[in-house]
Amino acid sequence: MTQILDNISLQPFNSFGIHALAKHFCKVTSLNEMQELLEWNKTNNHPLLVLGGGSNVLFTKDYDGLVLQNALKGIELVNEDNEYYFVKAMAGENWHQFVSHCVQQQYQGIENMSLIPGNIGASPMQNIGAYGVEIKDVFESLEAIQISDGSIVSFDNKACGFGYRESVFKHQLRNQFIILSVVVRLRKTPIFNISYGNIEQELMNMNVKQLTIQSIADAVIRIRQRKLPDPTKIGNAGSFFKNPIIPTVLYDELKKAYASIPGFAVQNGSHTKVPAAWLIEQTGWKGFRAGDAGCYPLQPLVLVNYGHATGLEIFNLSTQIIEKVKIEFGIELEREVNIY
Ligand code: FAD
Ligand code: NAP
Repeated sequence: MTQILDNISLQPFNSFGIHALAKHFCKVTSLNEMQELLEWNKTNNHPLLVLGGGSNVLFTKDYDGLVLQNALKGIELVNEDNEYYFVKAMAGENWHQFVSHCVQQQYQGIENMSLIPGNIGASPMQNIGAYGVEIKDVFESLEAIQISDGSIVSFDNKACGFGYRESVFKHQLRNQFIILSVVVRLRKTPIFNISYGNIEQELMNMNVKQLTIQSIADAVIRIRQRKLPDPTKIGNAGSFFKNPIIPTVLYDELKKAYASIPGFAVQNGSHTKVPAAWLIEQTGWKGFRAGDAGCYPLQPLVLVNYGHATGLEIFNLSTQIIEKVKIEFGIELEREVNIY
């Protein structure tokens, strides 16, 4: 039986660097260990929290249950056809290392998602995305273990119910499955996507004459390193809020009052995605700091822990931001980060 530790600090295991205790903690490195642990917990009945890289969680209190750190490892080319490579990665593999591996192998399709922190297992949870690509665009299937009976279930793209930073695992099937592995489908002949944000400009700055998978990955890495706080230096969990998607009629009304409000048409134009960063900046939060809890000056969508902030302080700041944006714009921001 794998070792279960008691009263373990979760500080090294969350990118916010928040100090909170796990009543029980267990690192799982094989399917056998996972099955044993779930069996053990059937009799002990502790609330269960599955943790990957801890880069999308905020602990507001100690966790009075069992934290299972999913550390299953392995990357494998499982199949290929004329068009695609099918690559399987185990849940405990680091996402960015996986992307780098695929870039090196000339497997094309996830280079725009370079440098997203965290592990493979969490990537379908919120359908991770960046620079115009989401995991759903390359997703083939995943395997997950059902917590209630230990059975292994396979999910295809449709069964995951992917949406904008959403999946069934965040909603209907919340806390019911532990994702074990993911298979992605990557192109042999590249179809690049550089239309988004300032990738094209960055490639020009880099003096790239011929596009390659590697050059796009490098451009994305350069932009992200400039704009986003490095969690090893300043605690954060990336975007704290989702970008709100509102009916376009409402957006058009707002545009009359706020001529510079940015918006991106989605859902065939019926709705518009409004960058939450703009709403937060307009309401005066950009660069705000109270104690060690703050709103990052270079990207106000990111809340930060400058050192010794508590999870509750960060959470309370997020509540204040939500309230002020709601009063000013009538838009209710939704937290993207998982709160515990
Ligand atoms: P964790 O934080 O460990 O877990 C997140 C949630 O998933 C928790 O609810 C957890 O219980 C659950 N979970 C984790 N693993 C499993 C599993 N195997 N089975 C079932 N449930 C599981 N996200 C983006 O989408 N795009 C970005 O560009 C992006 N940029 C970021 C930049 C920075 C600097 C930071 C700090 C974060 C960023 N994020 C981004 C957020 C984060 O990196 C992603 O959400 C990532 O997928 C989280 O992975 P993780 O392993 O750290 O998940
Ligand atoms: P950005 O490029 O400054 O863009 C700001 C906002 O505009 C984002 O909300 C983005 O939506 C939207 N946007 C920009 N160009 C768009 C286009 N052509 N079509 C549709 N929407 C467009 O954003 P950023 O903060 O620097 O982040 C860059 C990318 O990395 C984004 O994709 C962002 O989602 C991702 N990222 C995510 C996190 C996280 O924790 N979730 C953290 C950092 C960066 P989208 O967000 O929908 O792309």
